[in-house]
Order: sequence, then structure tokens, then C-alpha cells
Amino acid sequence: MYTIKDDLSATLQEIRDAGLWKDERQLTSPQQAHITTTKAQAINFCANNYLGLADHPEVLAAAADALQEWGFGMASVRFICGTQEQHTRLEGALSDWFGTEDTILYSSCFDANGGVFEVLFGKDDAIISDALNHASVIDGIRLSKAARYRYANADMDDLRAQLEAARGARRTVIVTDGIFSMDGYLAPLEQICDLAEEYGAMVLVDDSHAVGFVGAGGGGTPEACGVADRVDLLTGTLGKALGGASGGYVSGPAEVIALLRQRSRPYLFSNAVAPVVAAGSLKAIEIARGSDEARETLQRNTALFRELMTEEGFELLPGSHPITPVMFPGEDGARQAAQIADAMLEHGVYVIAFSYPVVPQGQARIRVQLSAAHSEDDVRACVAAFVAARDEVLGS
Ligand SMILES: *Cc1c(COP(=O)(O)O)cnc(C)c1O
Repeated sequence: MYTIKDDLSATLQEIRDAGLWKDERQLTSPQQAHITTTKAQAINFCANNYLGLADHPEVLAAAADALQEWGFGMASVRFICGTQEQHTRLEGALSDWFGTEDTILYSSCFDANGGVFEVLFGKDDAIISDALNHASVIDGIRLSKAARYRYANADMDDLRAQLEAARGARRTVIVTDGIFSMDGYLAPLEQICDLAEEYGAMVLVDDSHAVGFVGAGGGGTPEACGVADRVDLLTGTLGKALGGASGGYVSGPAEVIALLRQRSRPYLFSNAVAPVVAAGSLKAIEIARGSDEARETLQRNTALFRELMTEEGFELLPGSHPITPVMFPGEDGARQAAQIADAMLEHGVYVIAFSYPVVPQGQARIRVQLSAAHSEDDVRACVAAFVAARDEVLGS
């Protein structure tokens, strides 16, 4: 008799044998710079809490007030009876920030990416996507009937070749993450917009790892690259820098957003964002927009970390994004990175190692993520933990 349990235990064992098993550590504290888990106390250097808004007192207060005023859940999709004033305000706040005509909220950016392509791009159209785009972008594109083209990461010659290959399509869109999450690299948006113009293509940027803290005013990678008025469509998340709860969006021309409200499946067939999340996110946006202070702290922490780690002889990928990959190249790199990350937890610093297939073979790394919530002492403690763990694992 077929039993799925036996079948799956073999698959599960294969995942373990390949060293790819992901264990979940349980936090016994809120998400903040200093966390506790069931096993340890640690400074957290692997959250997407870039601006430290996940437990910001004003965000908590706004969410707590909203719980009383607006209730716990909507128990409805938006178009039936799931739209409160604050959903509309949240969409308006995002449009206002990005300088777009309109914005539509989803439960997550995964859903936003899952819902945007199918509606806008059909069999006569072409979607040209960076090879390192987020899984949700890849899946969203798969759901559309458009012709699909892929270009090597940030490779503008290859992008041009794909645009040539796609000639003749009714609509063409170039799709890229604003920041690539494993490297912290910024997409070359100015060149992408130039090519888009030359070929009559649109540009869609998923700015999840940038919105709120990249660009002088936190407007994201289009602002940082000076192309805010040349990017056609933005997607992004509220689940990272902007409070870190949940929610995603598509922002762009009014007609696009109007059509998404009519046709986009994750929007039409999934529950509205919870009132406390809408209210907390609105406050997070207000804080992120209203002051440069957290962005400056974040930049200072990132610069200090990169400087001290370089002095200590670690190999970092270049850049200025708070995603700071500490590289452990070579055949033994995956094991070294994993052991050093484990050893660092003993020294009170929580970081995560990534290796193949999440990153290319031979490019194992510990991805450190700085936050405005970290103090200078926290950053120094992280560097000290790296040095101590390296000595223990590799010998001094
Ligand atoms: C995190 C992330 C997402 C997913 O966002 P959620 O709101 O958590 O679903 C999508 N795209 C990119 C580029 C991301 O980094």
C-alpha cells in the first residue's frame, strides 16, 4: 500500500543529507536588536528590520489604538466589505511617497508579484527578467501567458540581447529587484531605463529590500538612481523596513492599479490586510518619511561594520547596502560559514550562513544585515564575534 509518510521521509532525509535542512529557532522576545531565543540571548544581525521599526513605540501605539478602534480582522476581501478608511489612506501614503498615481495593497509582496503579471501581460507580450530576481517574481511571471526572457544578473549586454529577441511583442516589460538580496547589490536602474526607452519597454522594480531606507528620502532604488519618474511599476513589501508586519503593494499608473483591483487574483480572492497592520504600517511610513535619523544611523552602522571587518581581514562584497555578505569562498567555504555562524551564536551574535543552492557554488557567505536599531557597541560586538569564531573554527 502506498503511504505518503514513507515516501516523504526519504525526501526529508535527502534534504538533511545534502546539508540543506533549515531549522527554525524560536524567539522568546519581540523582534529587535537584542533578542532571546529558547537557547540563547543574542544581538540579531539577520532581520530585515532595517529601520528598527518592528518594535518602535509609536508603531506599537498606533497598532494598539487601531485594535480598539477598528477591530482585529476584516473577515472579507477588499471589494466585498474589507475596505476601511485606513486601507485607502495607506495606499495613498505610498503613492504620495513614490510620486505614483495609485497603489494597491496585497497581503504580501509575494502576492503582489503573484498578481501583477498575469493581469498585465498576455500571450502577445514579453517579460524580460533578471536571473537573480526574487522567487515571487519568478512565480508571478510563470502565471502569465507572456513570452519569457531571462538576462544574466545586471548584465546590460544580455538585457539588450533579450530585448532584441523580444522585438515585436505588444507590451514588453523589464523586471528587476531594486536590491539583490544575497549580494546587497543595487540594480543598474539608469541603464535599464535607458534600454527600456530605446526599445519601448516598461520597467518594473521590486523594491522590497530598499523601500524606506535606500535613496536620500527613503523612496527606494528609483530615487537612489535618479529614475523615480522613469520606472513604470513598483512592487514592494511592508514586511521588511516599514514595520516588518506584513503587506505588499503594486504602485504605478492609475489605469494599471484600477485593472488590478478588477482582475488580480490574490487581491480579489484573499483577505484584506488586518486593521492593526494597516495602522502600524501607516505610522511606520510616517516615521520613515518624516526623518532621516534612522537612515543615517543605519548608514553609519553599515559603514562602521564594513570598515572594521575589512581591517580584520574578512572578505566582503563591495557596496553600501546594510546587507553585507561576509564571504567564505572555495570548496570548504560552506562548512566554514556554517560553523562560524554557529560559533558566533555562542558569542551572542545571531547570523545565518548561506551556501549552494541559495548562492552559487563556491560563494558561501554569512549575510549580515545591519539595522538602525543596533548601537555602535552592537556593531563592534558583531565584529568581535566574527574574529573569535574564525579563530575557533579555522585556528588563529
Ligand atoms: C521579501 C521579498 C518579497 C516578499 O515579500 P513579502 O511581503 O514577505 O511576501 C518579495 N520580493 C522581494 C525582492 C523580497 O525581498
